[in-house]
Amino acid sequence: MGIKQNIEELRSKLPEQVTLLAVSKTKPLEALEDAYMAGMRDFGENKVQELVKKSENFHEDVRWHFIGQLQSNKVKYLVDKVHLIHSLSSISLLNEIEKQFSKVNKVANTLIQINIGREESKSGILEEDLYEFIEAIEKCKFVSVKGIMVIIPIGDEESNRKYFKKTKKIFDELKEKNYNNISMKILSMGMTHDFMTAIEEGSNLVRIGTGIFGERNYNLGGENNG
Ligand SMILES: *Cc1c(COP(=O)(O)O)cnc(C)c1O
Repeated sequence: MGIKQNIEELRSKLPEQVTLLAVSKTKPLEALEDAYMAGMRDFGENKVQELVKKSENFHEDVRWHFIGQLQSNKVKYLVDKVHLIHSLSSISLLNEIEKQFSKVNKVANTLIQINIGREESKSGILEEDLYEFIEAIEKCKFVSVKGIMVIIPIGDEESNRKYFKKTKKIFDELKEKNYNNISMKILSMGMTHDFMTAIEEGSNLVRIGTGIFGERNYNLGGENNG
């Protein structure tokens, strides 16, 4: 099946309130163009250099989402390019975002990445560190948190559902509170193989790569963060 058909089929499954993010990492601009022609405007990349390069050579009305592990020294390249950073995952990164966005007097839109499966291989804030992290966010002037992002551990549907439920619970708890700079609006969870379960458990943004563009060529890199 082609990219256009994939997108149409996905759209027919998604409830209206769910944003479809096309994860275009490792894919060439021709593939992104097919998705654009099918109406996609939200694209996700996990490497700073790749996002910058694509954004400079593609339609201006695209919203670029950064979904990979973000190194502090690369934040400066995202200013003016990125619509939403899904991977706010440490105080040092928070401080760097604050610093770089303050230089141009702009507010960075971000999601807190929570390491919901407590996996050492993954970045993200642990639940027990969340409140300390929030205190730091509240002091910022150039960072706005719009919600939560999770990458759950690999597992079966039951396991997926458990982690999605856990995340939704945290999302709802934070939504009740009135923290400075934090408004819980976006819950970014679910990928090609688990997005329906994620939506059932409250996701309103699904990040789909393979399901739109087909398998990635791992030799070109991109699966791992950087
Ligand atoms: C690659 C990636 C996706 C998309 O994964 P698929 O299984 O291809 O849909 C979603 N989220 C993040 C953070 C990714 O790195």
